[in-house]
Amino acid sequence: MGIAADGAAQTTATRLAQEGIELIRFLWVDHDSITRGKAVTTRALEPRLVSGVGLASTRQATGLSDLGQPVPGFNAVGEVRLHPAPETLAQLPHAPGSAAMLCDLVTADGAPWDACPRTFLKEALASAATYDVVAGFEPEFTLCRTQPAPGRFEPADDSLCFDNEGFDATTDFTLEVIRALEAQGLGVETCHPEFGPGQHELTLQPAPALRAADAYVLQRLITRGLARRRGLWATFAPVPTPGARGNGNHLHVSLWSRSGSGAPAVNLFADDRDPLGLSELARAFIAGLLRHLPGLMALTCASVNSYHRLKPRMWAGAFGSYGPDNRETAIRVPSRLCGREAASTNIEFKACDSTANPYLALGALIHAGMDGVRHGWDPGPALSADPNELTPEELARAGVIHLPQSLEEAIVALEADDLLMSVLGPMRRALYPAIKRADALDMKALGEELEFHTHALRY
Ligand code: GLU
Ligand code: MG
Repeated sequence: MGIAADGAAQTTATRLAQEGIELIRFLWVDHDSITRGKAVTTRALEPRLVSGVGLASTRQATGLSDLGQPVPGFNAVGEVRLHPAPETLAQLPHAPGSAAMLCDLVTADGAPWDACPRTFLKEALASAATYDVVAGFEPEFTLCRTQPAPGRFEPADDSLCFDNEGFDATTDFTLEVIRALEAQGLGVETCHPEFGPGQHELTLQPAPALRAADAYVLQRLITRGLARRRGLWATFAPVPTPGARGNGNHLHVSLWSRSGSGAPAVNLFADDRDPLGLSELARAFIAGLLRHLPGLMALTCASVNSYHRLKPRMWAGAFGSYGPDNRETAIRVPSRLCGREAASTNIEFKACDSTANPYLALGALIHAGMDGVRHGWDPGPALSADPNELTPEELARAGVIHLPQSLEEAIVALEADDLLMSVLGPMRRALYPAIKRADALDMKALGEELEFHTHALRY
């Protein structure tokens, strides 16, 4: 993805026209992680690369109902701009003739806007001071034979977890997605059939954090678009139908030294002397995540539907702790890969799904982790046992934190978290809880069957 370094606006428009691109979508991701946008024709692109496209600011106050929430300052008056990030330019294989650019939301005079999610991540990265954050999103999705309807949900295959039949059942689609992503410079690392019928996972290479979040957004929309074009349906909803295995979007993170003046970048989370291979820095980062975990979940498990997934024995990270290769703790410390020990050291935040805005989720995670680093906190002993095999007393003794059981509880925890509320800033901390509470009410009014269905459609 991206416009070449010599890509002056005019060159870009000319090149796109030569490549048969007629329409460029200017996209952003809203507080509910819905990808939205406006499009510009290639003929009109050049000045818009600089000026952006106008957008009613109240769009950032809407949730799943599409209605603006009554947050002061958000009404029929007010305008911001969708300002495209040139490095995110990607052609859309499922929409021949179309390309997309991911946008920052800026004020009419071009300044960063306080409700822009992409800017939130950039601010978090700036606050990580001397470290480079490397991240990887690990989205799972359910592939369906056709678009779900109320009472009808038909997974595209019936394979077991990691079942070779699952590869065979979906091979044309999977390879089409991989080719499409690779063609846009989004390097694919692995893919496999997951636990549930129709459930799959496809992961991109880890990348600098902003690029990783951008890549995830493009991956999701290209996957959904290619499925739709085949008459299939790909949903990234946490639990798209009652009883389905949950779709997670685990977040892998590590902090690296800045490369420069000839010195190679070094993974500062790695320390061979530690039994888990973790440095003091990584341990302090984990301690920060644990300290802020309940509030953080409002931004990483960001929908009513998220809490159907976040249950014990689902490997979704429903227990507030961390542990080595522990798939039940919110933070898993993956064992390192032979021959790539230092490079592969990272932590996996499992309590995250695709209803979370990736920029807000990753940005908040960085802020929380860095709080631990700044204070030099210790996360305490790692949880090596399966928490399902421990009694409530043993869980308490191991320091396992009680996590929110619903979106409403997570929002209350967020509002009680001074650090997260402070970094969100006055505008986001008014908007976010208002939108989420409205979503919770709307979903309650719909009833459970339609709530599952709404998420299967929207995500
Ligand atoms: N599907 C699980 C989740 O909801 C994750 C399974 C796995 O470990 O890959 O997070
Ligand atoms: Mg998985």
